[in-house]
Parts: sequence; structure tokens; C-alpha cells
Amino acid sequence: MLNQNTIFDVIIIGSGHAGAALAISLRKKGFTGSILLTGEEAILPYERPPLSKEYMQGKIGDEQLLIRPDEFWTDQRITLAMGCAVNELNASQQYVALADGRTLGFNWCVLATGGKVRRLKCEGADLPSIHSLRNLADAKSIRDELTEVSKIAVIGAGYIGLEFAASARELGKSVTVIETQDRVLSRVTSPVIASILEEQHIRHGVTFHFGQGVSAFHGDGALQSIALEDGTTIPAQMAICGIGIDAETGLAETAGLDCDQGVLVDSCFRTSSPGILAIGDCSRHPNPFAGSRWRLESVQHAQDSAETAADLIIGEISPYAQVPTFWSQQYDLRLQSAGLNIDADDIIIRGAKGSTPFCAIYTRKGQVIAIDAINAPRDFMAARRLIQQGSKPDRSSLTDIDIPLKSLV
Ligand SMILES: Cc1cc2nc3c(=O)[nH]c(=O)nc-3n(C[C@H](O)[C@H](O)[C@H](O)COP(=O)(O)OP(=O)(O)OC[C@H]3O[C@@H](n4cnc5c(N)ncnc54)[C@H](O)[C@@H]3O)c2cc1C
Repeated sequence: MLNQNTIFDVIIIGSGHAGAALAISLRKKGFTGSILLTGEEAILPYERPPLSKEYMQGKIGDEQLLIRPDEFWTDQRITLAMGCAVNELNASQQYVALADGRTLGFNWCVLATGGKVRRLKCEGADLPSIHSLRNLADAKSIRDELTEVSKIAVIGAGYIGLEFAASARELGKSVTVIETQDRVLSRVTSPVIASILEEQHIRHGVTFHFGQGVSAFHGDGALQSIALEDGTTIPAQMAICGIGIDAETGLAETAGLDCDQGVLVDSCFRTSSPGILAIGDCSRHPNPFAGSRWRLESVQHAQDSAETAADLIIGEISPYAQVPTFWSQQYDLRLQSAGLNIDADDIIIRGAKGSTPFCAIYTRKGQVIAIDAINAPRDFMAARRLIQQGSKPDRSSLTDIDIPLKSLV
């Protein structure tokens, strides 16, 4: 039990990927000060990516989700306060107030509060069996309920919606995806990559409704159908809403930190308040590959931002300049993305559509700025380096699958 008025060298708010990675990284770098890792979820830090994939398909259980086993945290002298949200952050007096009534001071405080899911507000949106998928509790209740339903609607054809759709198909459920845009993954990838994933879903029996929003959920105590804006009715006993997240900035805003679609930070993840950092999904940093402030939602970014913050805390300034990366798994397709395809003026195709490996390489004025690689891990790794170096290889070498991308690095 922690004492009232204890002062910690570092208090981390949020025990997701970024918070856990920071605590781990600090110890790896030799930091000997006291660390408190707080998390409102009453569970040890765990991996979120499997929630829509292997965990949803019942291939792995809770234990395999853990980022580190129980004893790791004790061995590393990282104090945990799980199931205990931070209710208040006082920036000027440098303390936090926990949900269990304790008030704890800090020298450094790091916000790693992640994101909160967006919810639909239409008629019937509060019916049971309409779920979001952000945390383990969500995944558990969806998984439990899956055994009792056969018809599922997925609202939103982003990564999480599509990954869940693939998992539900693998479990033999009937799946309909509803998307307001005219294709899948419109926010993050090009039409060519989107069409490969969409075709794979169609081959596996998924039905799509594009250009349509939900106007109402219908059911008498339980979901029975979904009405689309064009009047179409979709029978469904369960709906998964994957319409994105917003940064969780509540504490930061109340504490008076600068926020704008995320907690605003500099390239070392320092907020507008001295001694307070913000990392992972909740932060918006100056990204050299975006050329502006950017908020990234990925495990890689959670990890990299935690490393940069850990360096700062131990007194080594190492401004963040990592190439953003992301991955997704749907059926037997593994998509790995590096860089940001903003303002690409050319898309170079490497491979033949209809087979893998297949890549879309994005360039701007000849410079490689991003890649989407499907079942092409070597190309992904090489392109990440080309992006980091700002390389401008010949277009013909990028398209020629007989020339390894590695040889262009
Ligand atoms: C289903 C799913 C699948 C995904 N798949 C992939 C993938 O394949 N590849 C990939 O790169 N990324 C994937 N992601 C995204 C990735 O998991 C996130 O980018 C990553 O978890 C961000 O880490 P974070 O620590 O910033 O936030 P989170 O992991 O969301 O952790 C934030 C934590 O802070 C806690 N918290 C919030 N407020 C408070 C408070 N006041 N007090 C205490 N605790 C608080 C929250 O409860 C939460 O536990 C996936 C995400 C989900 C949900």
C-alpha cells in the first residue's frame, strides 16, 4: 500500500503500450528512481493488437496478452496501481489524485492515456449488443456474445473493423460491413491496396455497403436490424463500431496543458508544462515525415515515443525522428506500412495484383515517402530505410521485383 503524500520520481498515467514501454525502457537505461505506473483497467499491461485478431478468434488467452509477467514489475521495482484511475493532475503543484483517494507527488509525470472510442449517436445506439473494441473488457464481452449470434454488422471499414470482420468470418459468422466512404481504409491507404483487402474480404464472404451511414439500430430489447441512410435494412444481432478514436486528453485539459486533437508536445514529448510529458496515442507531436504536428496510433509509435521520453528523463535528449510503421493482419494477408503517404505524387506498384508479395510505394518528387507491403516483409524493411534516408531511387528499380529493394538502400 502506498503512503499518502509519497513523491515518485516518475508517475506514468496509463498502463497501455506506451506507459508500460516507458517504465520498461527507464529500467533498461539504468534509471534507479521510483516509478509508479497507474492504469484504470484492473489488469496488468497487455497487448491490444491481438484483441481483434488471435484473441477474438479464441487462439490465445488472457495470459498471452501480457506485455510482461506479474513478477517482472516487482523485480524491476516498478510500483503498479492497476484498476486505479488518476482523477486529477495538478501541473503547478506537481501531484496527482488517484481514484482510491491517494494524493501523490511527482518529479516527472507522463501522460500515456491513449484514446477513447467515438460512438454513434443515432436512434437505438444504446441497445445491448452494440460494441466498441478498444480494451480487453470490450473484447471479452464481444467474444462471449459471439457464441450466441450468427449475423454481425461492422460499422466502419478501418483497420479494427476489418480485422474484426476477418476474425468473425473465420468463426463462421455472417458479416456485413457498413462504411460511409466509398472504399475500405480510405483514411490511411491508396485505392490499390484497399481494393486488394476488400477483394479478400469478399472472397471470404463479407458483404459491403459503401457510401452509407447508419440511421438507426432497431430491436426490442436486443438488436435485430440496422437501418442505413438509403433505407436499406440489414439484419444483425450484434454490431461492432470501429469508427475511430479521439485522444484521451481530459486530465491534460483540466490541468491546463495545451491540447488540440491530442496533448501537444515537442519532439521530446514535453507538454506545455515543465516536468510533464505525453506519449503514445494521446499525444500530437511535430512529425518530420508529416511535415506538421501529427497524432499516430500504433504500437511502434507508443514504443518509440516511450524511448524518447525515457531518454529525456535520464538526461539524454534524443528528438523523435522514427519512420512511422504499422501492421495489420486480415486472413492470410499481412499488411505492413512505413512512412506517411501524405501528398504523394506517384504510386509505384511492385508485384502483380492478385498475388503476393505486393507493394505500393509512395513517392513525392521522386523521394520514397511511404510503403504499403502485403506479405512482403523484406520490401517493408528495406523501404523503411529508404524512407529514413530520403532516397530517390530510379522508378524502374522500384517496380522491378528482380531488384531487391535492399540493394537500393
Ligand atoms: C483492437 C485493436 C487492435 C490494434 N491493432 C494494432 C496493430 O495491429 N498494429 C498497431 O501498430 N497498432 C494496433 N492497435 C493500436 C495500438 O494498440 C495503440 O496504438 C496502442 O495501444 C497505443 O498505446 P497507448 O499506451 O498510447 O494507449 P493505450 O494502449 O490505449 O493505453 C492507454 C491506457 O491508459 C489508460 N488510462 C486512460 N486514462 C487514464 C487515467 N485517467 N488514469 C489511469 N489510466 C488511464 C487506459 O485505460 C488505457 O489502459 C490496435 C488497437 C486496438 C484497440
